[in-house]
Amino acid sequence: MIIDIRKLKAERRYEGELHFTLPPDNDAVTLPLTEAASEIRVDGTYRLMEDDALEITGKVRYLLRGACSRCLKTVEKRMEGEWNPCFVKDEPQDEEYSYERDVISLDQSVKDAVMLSMPYVLLCDENCAGIEYAATNERTE
Ligand SMILES: [Zn+2]
Repeated sequence: MIIDIRKLKAERRYEGELHFTLPPDNDAVTLPLTEAASEIRVDGTYRLMEDDALEITGKVRYLLRGACSRCLKTVEKRMEGEWNPCFVKDEPQDEEYSYERDVISLDQSVKDAVMLSMPYVLLCDENCAGIEYAATNERTE
């Protein structure tokens, strides 16, 4: 997804909504035996500041499919993560992204948001008791 800052300014659209999808991104899936099972749905609002910084507040949503970390049963889980990137034209600070020539690509920020929202474990149920051999990882003595 590309945003053209010049165009937003020309049309005086300094604030607005963003709705788009990106294809499933398995590079962002950090859990073993798990895959991205849907497109990444992205919804947010943007605000173009006077210094040409673009601030976004939004969410990423996607479906994960994989083996339950305890019992290995296949589960699907709807995931949701915060997507609040800020794009600046000059030197980016901390969590900011930079852009050039009035064009901003949002894709990397979406990928980062998906990665940050990745769960540490995927469970078929919070109370999953697991099976003996699947639960040995953390109990090596
Ligand atoms: Zn389970």
